[in-house]
Amino acid sequence: MSRRRQIYEGKAKILYEGPEPGTLIQYFKDDATAFNAQKKGTIQGKGVINNRISEYVFTRLNHIGVPNHFIRRLNMREQLVRQVEIIPIEVVVRNVAAGSISKRLGIPEGDMLPHTLIEYYYKDDALGDPMIAEEHIRCFGWAGHDEMQDIADMAIRVNDFMCGMFAAIDIRLIDFKLEFGRIWDGDFSRVILADEISPDGCRLWDMHTGEKLDKDRFRRDLGGEEEAYQEVARRLGLLQDDNGPSEVFDLSKHRKLRGK
Ligand code: 5GP
Repeated sequence: MSRRRQIYEGKAKILYEGPEPGTLIQYFKDDATAFNAQKKGTIQGKGVINNRISEYVFTRLNHIGVPNHFIRRLNMREQLVRQVEIIPIEVVVRNVAAGSISKRLGIPEGDMLPHTLIEYYYKDDALGDPMIAEEHIRCFGWAGHDEMQDIADMAIRVNDFMCGMFAAIDIRLIDFKLEFGRIWDGDFSRVILADEISPDGCRLWDMHTGEKLDKDRFRRDLGGEEEAYQEVARRLGLLQDDNGPSEVFDLSKHRKLRGK
């Protein structure tokens, strides 16, 4: 029996050659990193949950006409995706100030932004993913003018959809990161959404308590990251509700249990 070929290993995922040409298998790990991999750890069960959440979001985005790489989920940790030529840009959409924009510009975390912001970062670990302007993207040929137009349009549509999707389960979508890739048909290419959408790359705050339900729990040593990811999946209806419908995620109880 031959072993399948690994194409790429990232911080949170591994890509293997898929069963047909033009496909890949995306494997979700429990590994978590932050601050350009200076902080490393594991979030137990994260890979399984992110696989499910990403499947759910990408499937629904497909239904509203946002083209993406997702084909189908294969098992607990793997999904079949279309192979794309990754565009080396991280697209960050922000509704509320948090994280690096607060640090960079001194805007208090939690301040509503006057309007939704789209920012671009150059995907390069060695450089620490520096923020870039559209001018840099065009100057260095990372994406063309029409491609950037499509990317910005899709990012806004994803944001509109996800704000509603999360609001319906009492979660405020603060910001998130997207990645895009090209697929080729002869000499013509098209940009589609790729990578994943999960609490790893989104800031999700409980609408009423403001509790963080995302990777900032790991980044900021808040604890309860497993429970937070599970809570997002549970509210989306993706987990079997073993504890019955009245069981509500209680981070203060969790903190007491951990002695914090
Ligand atoms: P910030 O620039 O404030 O650190 O991040 C903005 C948003 O993009 C956050 O939701 C954050 O999770 C996401 N993000 C930015 N860069 C990365 C990255 O390299 N990996 C992941 N998983 N998310 C990122």
